[in-house]
Amino acid sequence: MKILVLNSGSSSIKFQLFDMSDTAVLAGGLVEKIGESTSQLTYRKFKVGTETDKHVFQQSIGDHSEGLSHIAALLLDEEKGAVKSSAEIAAVGHRVVHGGERFSEPTIVTAEVMEELQKLSFLAPLHNPANLQGIEIAAEVFKQATQVAVFDTAFHQTLPEFAYRFAIPKEYYAQHGLRVYGFHGTSHAYVSREAAKFLGIANDQFNAITVHLGNGCSMAAIKDGKSVDVSMGLTPVGGLMMGTRSGDIDPGLLLFLVEHLNMTGQEIDQLLNKESGLKGLAGDNDLRNVMQQYDSGDPEAVLAVTMYVYRIKKFIGAYTAALGRVDAVVFTAGVGENSAAIRSLVCENLEVLGITLDEVRNKEKTSGAHAISASGSNVNVLVVPTDEELEIAMQVRGIIS
Ligand code: ADP
Repeated sequence: MKILVLNSGSSSIKFQLFDMSDTAVLAGGLVEKIGESTSQLTYRKFKVGTETDKHVFQQSIGDHSEGLSHIAALLLDEEKGAVKSSAEIAAVGHRVVHGGERFSEPTIVTAEVMEELQKLSFLAPLHNPANLQGIEIAAEVFKQATQVAVFDTAFHQTLPEFAYRFAIPKEYYAQHGLRVYGFHGTSHAYVSREAAKFLGIANDQFNAITVHLGNGCSMAAIKDGKSVDVSMGLTPVGGLMMGTRSGDIDPGLLLFLVEHLNMTGQEIDQLLNKESGLKGLAGDNDLRNVMQQYDSGDPEAVLAVTMYVYRIKKFIGAYTAALGRVDAVVFTAGVGENSAAIRSLVCENLEVLGITLDEVRNKEKTSGAHAISASGSNVNVLVVPTDEELEIAMQVRGIIS
């Protein structure tokens, strides 16, 4: 069985085609800068996990429909392609950012589901409309395939009410759905399950703190394999400090921006989502660059990294208190998987929580899930590479078979 996974953003489409008999990636790539004068399509083909072919095309791709047609043509191409006919693709799994309270499982898309998803778009106006457009177009391009939506919020639908409600009158929740949803659920679900497997602990008895540090950053508290708390909130701007997002701030600051600086909703959105975090403090959202400045002693970078790390430490403390017993702290995503320096700073002086890092193991370049804690550490510290596309493909297989 072959499953295509699509992640449609506002100006991009990421794709990966899996052969589910052994979960091997057959082909994958990315269409970027859709709608700009020069768009770029990167296409890769794989055999037994090894890249055999890479093509980069630069041309104008006007909209998502055109982008997906190019992807389909490449996947079916006699020479470059990975399937002989589109009928081989049993299902297309779509990453959908917000599933609200309605969708806590992967869901086969019908006309009714589309209608409900459209109603939820107000909760993620920057993401859901592009995700839905991707579904509509894929249903036309891959007519025989079952379209399945997999939600970033779904894994966190197990949060207890005391963790997901805001301390404001109930009507705001009941009438407008204002509550904590949490995001990156596919990644938190995947890495916590992989971590349990690595440690030989049954998933339904596994307690973990998962730390997803990419451009977007979030942490989750996992109890008995289920998410019980998450750092992002109603939207992905809450919680940790990120590449360009502020993370948690005093709600009173928003009032100040409105009342004293006369800023509009759009301006505040731009400030907190695009101009804050590492970029706002150190002038760059890419942690690799910020770490170079940090290493050279640049005071703005030192402050930015110290704040970034301090937030993560505080959430580890909070989630240890929430969980009582922590089997593992699990680092993942671009920064979590690659920056030994950030992992080391985060775990510094956390012996009080039973966390001791092995600095040598931490610096070793090891691929796959591996432990970086010291032998005597009460809490395992792991690095587990995330694979959101594979997780989506596996969830799709679960629902269609
Ligand atoms: P996205 O949220 O876009 O999926 P990624 O998970 O790819 O993001 O993470 C992107 C982040 O990872 C960037 O800030 C990048 O600087 C950081 N990163 C990637 N490799 C390294 C590295 N070797 N050291 C430090 N940071 C890294």
